[in-house]
Amino acid sequence: MIHDNFQNIKSSIPNNVTLVAVSKFQTVEAITCLYTEGQRIFGENRPQEMVAKQALLPHDIQWHQIGHMQSNKVRMIMPFVAMIHSVDSLELLRFVGAEAVRIGRRVDVLLQVHVAREESKHGFGPEQLLQHLSQGMLDDIHGVNIVGLMAMATFTDDMAVVRAEFERVHQLYLQMQSLAAQRPAFSGDGIRWLSMGMSGDYRLAVECGSNMVRVGSLLFGA
Ligand SMILES: *Cc1c(COP(=O)(O)O)cnc(C)c1O
Repeated sequence: MIHDNFQNIKSSIPNNVTLVAVSKFQTVEAITCLYTEGQRIFGENRPQEMVAKQALLPHDIQWHQIGHMQSNKVRMIMPFVAMIHSVDSLELLRFVGAEAVRIGRRVDVLLQVHVAREESKHGFGPEQLLQHLSQGMLDDIHGVNIVGLMAMATFTDDMAVVRAEFERVHQLYLQMQSLAAQRPAFSGDGIRWLSMGMSGDYRLAVECGSNMVRVGSLLFGA
């Protein structure tokens, strides 16, 4: 089943879109099955679970942290995590940077932006993010490469609402790219990942400009 799900999803997204297989709650066996299919990027939302699985699975897996993280959980994943999608405050950004510096590495991070109607979703406000960037608040935070944005849409069947939110995030992504291009601290490849889209809305997200989708239940089964 995982084989078919994987092939279906892979064939429904363009080659430039990266698939993050969301493996939270999944067993090591299920992850191994997908690994055998060729998948190398896995996303977890709990640091403890990521650490436990990382120890048991092949070391060429790239682990992505996708869920909200307390700063006291940062240290346990920092030695190996490939990307953190859920950096949702300046405080956490600085904390992640300081931890990375402490162990002598740099880590790729995405800034999570809040556009959903639910108040419970974490993240920067769109205006706040543009302001931070243009005021230099995101410059020179050692230990992190800010490589893009992550967002989640409102949990609803109303695809018009979801589309409007995805389009807003894509707009913000383009604005951030052009602002970042003017700042030496962001030289190099800069802002290049837009992580949005899950099982229920990943096709729509890709239509709206996403180039990184985080798919769990559709891949592994609920
Ligand atoms: C669980 C989760 C996903 C995947 O959700 P599915 O609907 O199972 O595809 C994506 N992103 C985040 C942040 C998640 O917590």
